[in-house]
Amino acid sequence: MDKYSEIRVPVAHDNPSIKRHDKKCVLCGKCKDVCKNKMGVACHWTYDSENIVCINCGQCVNVCPVGSLVEQDDTSAIMDAIHNPNKKVAVITSPSVRVSVGEMYDYPSGEIVTGKIVSALKRLGADYVYDVTFGADLTIMEEASELIDRLKNGTNLPQFTSCCPAWVKFVETFYPQLIPNLSTCRSPISMQASVIKNFLAKKHNIKPSDLVVVALTPCVAKKFEIKRPELSGLYGQDTDYVMSVREFGRLLKREKIDFKKLTDSEYDTALPLGTGAGVIFGASGGVMEASVLTAYYLTTGQNPPENFLKFKALRGYKDVKTATVHLLDRDVKLCVLFGTNKAREILDSLKRRKYDMIEVMACPNGCVGGGGQPILRDMDSAVVKRAEGLYSCDAKMEKRLSYENPEVKSLYNEFLITPLSEKSKKYLHTYYTKR
Ligand code: SF4
Ligand code: SF4
Repeated sequence: MDKYSEIRVPVAHDNPSIKRHDKKCVLCGKCKDVCKNKMGVACHWTYDSENIVCINCGQCVNVCPVGSLVEQDDTSAIMDAIHNPNKKVAVITSPSVRVSVGEMYDYPSGEIVTGKIVSALKRLGADYVYDVTFGADLTIMEEASELIDRLKNGTNLPQFTSCCPAWVKFVETFYPQLIPNLSTCRSPISMQASVIKNFLAKKHNIKPSDLVVVALTPCVAKKFEIKRPELSGLYGQDTDYVMSVREFGRLLKREKIDFKKLTDSEYDTALPLGTGAGVIFGASGGVMEASVLTAYYLTTGQNPPENFLKFKALRGYKDVKTATVHLLDRDVKLCVLFGTNKAREILDSLKRRKYDMIEVMACPNGCVGGGGQPILRDMDSAVVKRAEGLYSCDAKMEKRLSYENPEVKSLYNEFLITPLSEKSKKYLHTYYTKR
């Protein structure tokens, strides 16, 4: 029972994402304010100490002024796995960490420090380090194909994106009648982990049960997502642990690894790199942009013309952005937003019927503002610069569209067959549950 639940967010003892050091709390109420006004969670349910409602976004942690609320720390378990001689540890890194990890070492927000992140993970003892941009490319292929199917059949529109686990839990909790609108695509880390355990491990003669997959992410809601029973196989969870950017920083300090002095290393290539489309997943609007460009190619066999999508329409730090594209001989209306409270405005009204696809990320400006990212004094400016860093990284990449990725094509040829095939549905898709 939290006797202060009128003032602050109550936290369940078994919350996999966040916890509170009670003695530090100064009862300022900032956590409840963000939970109510940005996330649309607090004050939308009646307090009951047995069933505390939380979508695990971690935004309350980002605003707590005294470090009373913190993320759950899984670094000891991760190091135990690394030190276990019977296990191989593969770390997969989310697109947005490349532009935020550096902030903990005096690099400006948005500076790309991917090579040093890979080196640091290898120094910690990771056996393999892979880039989740490949999983993001798979997500785009599947999600674009799903959109095309729904547009052709006129069913379950608007299609909601499903990469953000806090948003998915928000729909399951507050709008279960709209669960069919959610894309059934797993998130990029979940797709990548599934491919590692179900395909790559066998290809390299490693028992999936001997492989430990750790995701380095901007997100604490992923700590909840990986425990969903539907994302486990015969050998246990596809993703075994999630380590937020802040935990990573603490771990490097504990292990006395001087990040700034590290030289750059490359990702392991047994699982190939993704394209620029996968990189921009980390910013609000990135998933939508990448998906509709791929949908154009899949429906016409041609690259989208310059004027297909006015890119700037879906970019920038605005909580709601809209655009229209022409696909399958019709205008397809798109809406991108962040902050689940903002989503309430659209879901509660008939406005949602205006759109064919809606991208929602719970956190400010998408994953770049995730609940596990470094906490800076000026978070608004940080999330803008981090997103700019991702777009500049994309602009420099040789391959920028998921369907151009030859390795994605090979994986379909060798294993998955086609997007939305029976195998793709088994390994890359999921289902949801009313909460
Ligand atoms: S994690 Fe998100 S939903 Fe849960 S209490 Fe904090 S702000 Fe609210
Ligand atoms: S933001 Fe932190 S200090 Fe303020 S009420 Fe919440 S837990 Fe307590």
